[in-house]
Amino acid sequence: MIRRSLPTEPFDFLAAGELPAPCLAVDEAATLLAALGGHGQLSRLGSQQDQNLLVSGPDGPSAVLKLANPSFPEQDTLAQDAAAALVAATCPDLRVSTVLETGGRPMRAVLDTSEGPILARLLRHLPGGTFVERGWLAPSVAARMGMIAAQVSRSLADFSHPGLERRLQWDLRESLGVVELLADWLGPERERVLRASSSAWAAVQAAGELAVQPGHFDLTDDNLVCAVGGRLPDGIIDFGDVSRSWRVAELAITVSGLLHHAGGWTEPVLAAVRAFHAEQPLTRAEVDALWPLVVLRGAVLVASGRQQAGLDPANAYAGNALDREWRIFAAAESVPVPVVTGWLAEALGMSEPSPGVSGVPLLASPPAILDLGVMSPIMDEGAWQRPGLADRAALSAGGTVAAGWGVARLSEASGWVPGSDQRATTVPTAATLWNHGELRAPWDGTVRAEDGRLVLVGEPFDVILQGATGMSGPVKAGEPLADAGVRVDVQLVRGGVEVPLLVAPELASGWLGLTADPSALLGLEATALPSSRDPLRRRERHVAEVQEHYYADPPQIERGWRSLLIDTDARPYLDLVNNVAGVGHAHPRLATVANRQLRLLNTNSRFVYEALPAFAEALTSRLPDGLDQVFFVNSGSEAADLAIRLAMAATGRRDIVALAEAYHGWTYASDAVSTSVADNPNALTTRPDWVHTVPAPNSYRGQWRDGEAWRYGPDAATRIRELAAEGRPVAGFIAEAIQGNAGGILLPDGYLREVYGAVRESGGVAIADEVQVGLGRLGQWFWGFEQQGVVPDLVAVAKGLGNGHPVGAVITTAAIAESYRTGGYFFSSAGGSPLSCAIGSEVLAIIDDEQLQANAREVGARLRAGLEALDSPWVGTVHGAGLYLGLELVRDDQRTPAPELTAELCERLRQLGVIMQATGDHGNVLKIKPPLVLTAEQADQFVAAVGQALGEL
Ligand code: PMP
Repeated sequence: MIRRSLPTEPFDFLAAGELPAPCLAVDEAATLLAALGGHGQLSRLGSQQDQNLLVSGPDGPSAVLKLANPSFPEQDTLAQDAAAALVAATCPDLRVSTVLETGGRPMRAVLDTSEGPILARLLRHLPGGTFVERGWLAPSVAARMGMIAAQVSRSLADFSHPGLERRLQWDLRESLGVVELLADWLGPERERVLRASSSAWAAVQAAGELAVQPGHFDLTDDNLVCAVGGRLPDGIIDFGDVSRSWRVAELAITVSGLLHHAGGWTEPVLAAVRAFHAEQPLTRAEVDALWPLVVLRGAVLVASGRQQAGLDPANAYAGNALDREWRIFAAAESVPVPVVTGWLAEALGMSEPSPGVSGVPLLASPPAILDLGVMSPIMDEGAWQRPGLADRAALSAGGTVAAGWGVARLSEASGWVPGSDQRATTVPTAATLWNHGELRAPWDGTVRAEDGRLVLVGEPFDVILQGATGMSGPVKAGEPLADAGVRVDVQLVRGGVEVPLLVAPELASGWLGLTADPSALLGLEATALPSSRDPLRRRERHVAEVQEHYYADPPQIERGWRSLLIDTDARPYLDLVNNVAGVGHAHPRLATVANRQLRLLNTNSRFVYEALPAFAEALTSRLPDGLDQVFFVNSGSEAADLAIRLAMAATGRRDIVALAEAYHGWTYASDAVSTSVADNPNALTTRPDWVHTVPAPNSYRGQWRDGEAWRYGPDAATRIRELAAEGRPVAGFIAEAIQGNAGGILLPDGYLREVYGAVRESGGVAIADEVQVGLGRLGQWFWGFEQQGVVPDLVAVAKGLGNGHPVGAVITTAAIAESYRTGGYFFSSAGGSPLSCAIGSEVLAIIDDEQLQANAREVGARLRAGLEALDSPWVGTVHGAGLYLGLELVRDDQRTPAPELTAELCERLRQLGVIMQATGDHGNVLKIKPPLVLTAEQADQFVAAVGQALGEL
């Protein structure tokens, strides 16, 4: 039936029922466009209940022609347009699809069409795209969505318009009714959706008073847009659902749009909720209502999506959305509402302290404690990787032992495989007892024996004894409850909720909130949960902010093992970024040597002891003849600084030539030659007058590219000769043989030969900074300078030389070393200490004994081949050699750097269990420099994770 006029009564979804979208032919739509005073080519866009067409001019899209569903009175669309204008005015940083104007009048009109009168308007087109097709949403994207939802909510809080008084199926106050009304469209899923909806509805009712106000109520990944080439949302389209509802529904709807993306929903949800709460604080009632409303939103989406697809099978937009809508609903109801609510409340600092437990102790005397946490010594040397550790350790301890509730158990991570979203369920919601005697009832109740467990139903908690046997029936406090046994899990839960014995860390706080710590019933002290220590906040209080940390929301790393790092959730990560722990984290040989030396002696190099010459011999034996004098220091910065001072002393000059995009340290002289603008945005304009920078010889994106890259060498040599001609002959030249900070970029062949030649010709010396690239990391070469076929005059070494312990050295010739005398004496209190020398020698020995250079060559080649084979438009190139690689990410064929994408990639990799960071002046290169013990399998896992992540961005 064709209507003759638009309705005038406020829209009422429950009365209207079905809402097929207008479906005018493009030709007819063109006449409407002309009638509005617009012009351009039209093409169809999707919409569930309106008809949208894109208007394009000679320069591309210029506007959207929106034909409103004829079931809506004009008043409603006026309200939408007024709301858009208000948001645009109050949020100047947001792009908003407001109604376009011509001659000061809005381009909107009710026009006669073949489908009856239709309200048509021209809206501002926002170039860019939405987020609905992005496989994965970065937490930063979700946070921005939450923030925008809060800003819009605040903008519209006092908005009033007669067109707001509509009854929409999207108003979550109507959600249960909508789902019931449409339930028949759900087919076999009907009962599941109804059941979830009614229990969510009951939770909303129980939440308490919820504020009601106008809102957009559709700020999802489909209606938030980002600029062309951008990554974060900065615009809003589609005010079609503007109405009044619960204020918290604005957030619930935004959150629902996060649930269908890859990578699990907990991180984006938390990011969005936190950002909303920071702008527009939620009440406790709103926190309690939030997740039930997300479930209800999911239910409304699937029910109305099925209905729309059924009514209008030709509407591809509605059809495509079905799968997504189902994923939203399924995610929302995948975890019990009280778990998510407890988790959110805890994250927002709104949870109540858990009640203490007291009762008759279960055991006659307290058990010994078995620590299964990440820092427990029984986990050392990778012992946690062998399945069954907990049982073995408990049973070999003899007597009754207990492992606590609430603290992640590393022993549960033994089956972990890196590179996936799957988290090991490491957090116990029960305490575990081994070799226990008879257990007594802590309070009165009724015992029920069911498959493999005893349940004491009582107050304040039910006691679940998983693995215990005993009698059923009523018991009094202190009476026998369960037989002696080998192993039992003791769980205290609030009536009626089934809580798994082990849960994944992400939602653990929510699960734990449904249980209580049984320690008191075992005669043990209450558990201090790691979250109560909060090292990040404490660090922020006392550590200057400029000492940055990785990640906005960093994992707390407390253990390392070979190429793995482990956080307090007992989650292992592949460490692909560590250029210090070359021989691997927590190497047992280093632990032994350090322990022994600390018990023997640790003093300074003014004394004579065996460890120092032994270390000097070990170092110089690995260097070309003539480089046989060693200065011992504590860090790379000190080594670079000292090398520069030695160059100055040896030549009596002060001018130094350095490469752009370099980093050599933070001390005065090493910082002076650090030119990387990623580390210091003012680097290029603030160098002292004695530092001369030549371009980074980057054959991928520098001045000379690809086949032209050979020109960098002659150019730099010319600059060095010019300096001599200007009366400033150089004291020295400092460079890494592979530019580390720039992304592991190999110098062009012959570069150092050319430059060293020019330096020496004018009487200067050559410094090789081997702090990152030396010690076998390059695979084919032990030292970086070997790759260039040159021999420097001074070599600076550190980092991997101590595998994390502060050990640094400068190795040079006798003549240069002797020149230092002109500058005074040299002494470093800890440089060359017995401990540092013992560690340094042991590191060199381990590199040999474990053939780590060969491993760097083989695994590095495999890693490089895997990265080169990645099929992604974002991959520009792979730099580097051995286990020193850089994956450069670009936006297009012009090699435009993609720094935001690279940052997102690092976040996604963290989620997938890989520690990775960006480097380079553009922040668009993954710095791939794992411990040299990386295995082939781990290299493959990393490549697979990068491939997966790239596909989802
Ligand atoms: N030189 C290079 C090439 C480096 O990468 C670094 C550290 N990133 C340093 C020197 C300074 O070393 P440290 O941090 O040990 O002072």
